[in-house]
Amino acid sequence: MSNRLACNTAAPDRAPAWAPDRTRDQAPNHAPDWVKDSIIYEILPERFCNGDPTNDPEQASCWTGRPSRRNFFGGDLRGIIDRMDYLDDLGVTCLYLTPVFAAPSNHKYDTTDHFRVDPAFGTDAVLADLARRLHACGMRLILDAVFAHVGDGHPAFQDVLARGEASPYRRWFKIDGSPVRCRPRPNYRACGGLASMPKLNTDDPEVQDLLRRVGVHWIRVADIDGWRLDMPWEISHAFWRSFRTAVKHAKAEAFLFGELWGDAAPWLRGDQFDSAMNYRWREIVLRFLVTQCIDARTFVRELYSLRRAYGPASETMVNLLGSHDTPRLLTLCRGRVGKAVQALAFLLTDVGVPMIYYGDEIGMTGANDPGCRGAMPWSREKWNMQLYESCRALIRARHRHPALRRGSFRLLVAHDRLLVFLRRFEGDAALVALNAGFQQEKLEVDLPETMRSRSLETWHSPISGCECRIDAGRAHLTLPPSGTCLILPA
Ligand code: CA
Repeated sequence: MSNRLACNTAAPDRAPAWAPDRTRDQAPNHAPDWVKDSIIYEILPERFCNGDPTNDPEQASCWTGRPSRRNFFGGDLRGIIDRMDYLDDLGVTCLYLTPVFAAPSNHKYDTTDHFRVDPAFGTDAVLADLARRLHACGMRLILDAVFAHVGDGHPAFQDVLARGEASPYRRWFKIDGSPVRCRPRPNYRACGGLASMPKLNTDDPEVQDLLRRVGVHWIRVADIDGWRLDMPWEISHAFWRSFRTAVKHAKAEAFLFGELWGDAAPWLRGDQFDSAMNYRWREIVLRFLVTQCIDARTFVRELYSLRRAYGPASETMVNLLGSHDTPRLLTLCRGRVGKAVQALAFLLTDVGVPMIYYGDEIGMTGANDPGCRGAMPWSREKWNMQLYESCRALIRARHRHPALRRGSFRLLVAHDRLLVFLRRFEGDAALVALNAGFQQEKLEVDLPETMRSRSLETWHSPISGCECRIDAGRAHLTLPPSGTCLILPA
């Protein structure tokens, strides 16, 4: 059985891409303008590419080995420089690196020195070189600010362990009783209760000063373009206000976005972060496109509700389908490449800034940490080429069409499992149709005037045989399950 739907696109767009919530006083979008045109790519430097075998940790595993919580593969900053051609060809324009500062673990969220690049990743000079080379080809660099805790090897914490009450650093931490002990359970606040990651007392003025200096230091030393703020809910809003002031004073165009899994609105009032990782968007999208547990109408209701909550900031929310803290996209899709392509298509055509987790574009698989942190394979026979080529084509479409980056969002169809929407910006337009259901759908769409007067091109998912015929200003679409189709001015 198939549906035959017709919809009209003649009416002008009245609302902006985000549906404004007039019941609330929402701040304007405070993100730097460049962010709107960006495609972010998240990299775990330990796992992306090994460009310098001389700095490998002694116990480094074979590159093709399975990731565990403790093993190392030898990836480094030189490796990212070596693969800049790949990144440029893929079309990403901004790298977000998980922590790069001195730390004993493979993930480096247990910092021991905020002012030094970890020797297994390279040197401060290599980091500055990476930023310089990225800037030379129009790309940007964001680093991870891990401020809620440090590693137990941090000199301040080591001093507390050695000198107890006499340590001037004791007030940097939240310690209950004396002496300080790590076992059997730490008697200090620690990230996830792990003795190896003592929480910083971020209300202490000295600690706050240190963290602000970190924020400014790497802008001055390496000319980085912003920070992703780790676990920001652990730290006061007052601190984040002062951090924003310090960072924006050093570089007005710096981009600040937080790791936020729930409602990010309290940080998005214009005085703290520009944006946040949009994990709530991810949940809604996966429920509609991947687990298929909600229909299009529910999906749209939830998506609009999220946009209303974030207001103008929606335009630069960092949308993502996966990260170092989630299962891999293709694993969630249970290997169904068509689903993964469809999810990527929505990521790259929706309102917000897309972020791609390294390797998702070539079909890497893995459960949540540590499974999702495998080493990137560089021999193409290990890549899913349908996924990779689709991702690349969708990125190209986003770059070529301002409608996809900055346009309004107009819903045309939200029926059963079928979603069709139109994005428009000045003279540009893009029509996107997705069938997230279990059966083939047929529909007809009247194209808007801006599209009728131009020659058009279509892109559809290579997995399932979509058909698209354009005839006298109408598009006739046949979308099989997971079918995804874009109609764009040529
Ligand atoms: Ca290395």
